[in-house]
Amino acid sequence: MNTRDTLKINAAGRLQIGGADAVELAKKFGTPLYVFDEKHIRDMMRVYRNAISRLYGGNGLVLYASKAFSCKAVYAIAKSENIGVDVVSGGELYTALQAGFPADKIYMHGNNKLEYELEFAVKSGVGVIVVDSFREAEILDNLAAAAGIKQRVIARINPGVEAHTHAYVQTARTDSKFGFSIADGSAEEITRHLLGLKNLDFKGYHCHIGSQIFEKQSFVIAAGKLMDFICEIKQKLGYEAEILNLGGGFGVWYNDEDPKLQLEDYYGYMQCVIDEIKDKAEKYALKQPFLVIEPGRSIVGEAGITLYTVGAIKDIPGVRKYVAIDGGMFENPRYALYQSKYTVIVADRADAECTQKVSIAGKCCESGDLIAVDVPLPEVNSGDILAVLTTGAYNYSMASNYNRNFIPPAVLVNEGKAEYIIKPQNYEDLTRNDVIPDRLVKNDR
Ligand SMILES: *Cc1c(COP(=O)(O)O)cnc(C)c1O
Repeated sequence: MNTRDTLKINAAGRLQIGGADAVELAKKFGTPLYVFDEKHIRDMMRVYRNAISRLYGGNGLVLYASKAFSCKAVYAIAKSENIGVDVVSGGELYTALQAGFPADKIYMHGNNKLEYELEFAVKSGVGVIVVDSFREAEILDNLAAAAGIKQRVIARINPGVEAHTHAYVQTARTDSKFGFSIADGSAEEITRHLLGLKNLDFKGYHCHIGSQIFEKQSFVIAAGKLMDFICEIKQKLGYEAEILNLGGGFGVWYNDEDPKLQLEDYYGYMQCVIDEIKDKAEKYALKQPFLVIEPGRSIVGEAGITLYTVGAIKDIPGVRKYVAIDGGMFENPRYALYQSKYTVIVADRADAECTQKVSIAGKCCESGDLIAVDVPLPEVNSGDILAVLTTGAYNYSMASNYNRNFIPPAVLVNEGKAEYIIKPQNYEDLTRNDVIPDRLVKNDR
């Protein structure tokens, strides 16, 4: 089972999430179904917020990186937990604002934000825009002038630290579409440039070194490099950055190759990073910067599971056994994209012993449409409810209507009670924007 008390096995031997019986949820809401445990989401938001308030005097802000799972309800939860959010598109920004999220606690990211997205952000009063190119700095300066405001911005920096799940690499030259490199001087150049733009209020720096990271040292090194850079810029230009945004990337448990982190472990990551920032600030006689972090996956990942009904089972003797489900790459493309690993459970008999290895196949017309390959499972039959664990992050948010399948609905469980936070789609939704030009109708005899 996963990390905390989000998932349990109840007296009937069935999987339970947030106090709700998974098989009952499947019966009531149908499958495929995304299920989120509200308590898990709130606990994770709080652990980061508490770390900043207890270890850093509250001199910072946690942003939920909403690309992990974006819908109105999750912004409402973030708002009630008194944290900020980051958005990476006009669509995410619109969703957050529709949920009543305060614009001044929104940061906006993206390596190629479009002009209409930047205009929307400036006009909505988005707190901070993270500049990722010289072109964007120009566009923003003009938009802010037109709006008669000074837009707060920070610059995305490439510190030359690449984090991988259990290791990190330091590179002099980073090959990335994101940000300005310290090593090649472009980070200094954008600093000079932004300081010269009259309609922008340049506040500091951002970096994001990767995702699904467990190695503490990766975060510490990145924080240290940014502090070194802040010091260097102060000495050269007399400008001292006020905001230091270190991005997200904290890992979660997907299967037993991953550690199971407790709340204290996430607090521990924060402690290490904060210690490093304090040490460097003291060493360089800098003010402690306003610390921003942007966890996405670690807030919603393990809070979510996906429920499916088993359909066809195809056993190819000596080759592989395929268990087909009513979902697939349209609602979870992560195996197809990255060969991501998952843990699969038969929700009806969650405590049954695993006796075989099977591959979970989706219903799309693609051989690569798989959710998990050769995973251990107990005896399984058509009609059983399967649960794939840790699907809260980058599943719904990456879903599509490929093959004109429905993007599944999502429910939020709170103390055993489940409610829709994303309603089911219907055929009308799928064809709503389709148009047949008259010409084609006339020719149709
Ligand atoms: C994706 C992303 C995050 C969140 O990363 P997680 O690994 O989900 O925590 C934070 N900041 C930026 C800029 C990102 O692109």
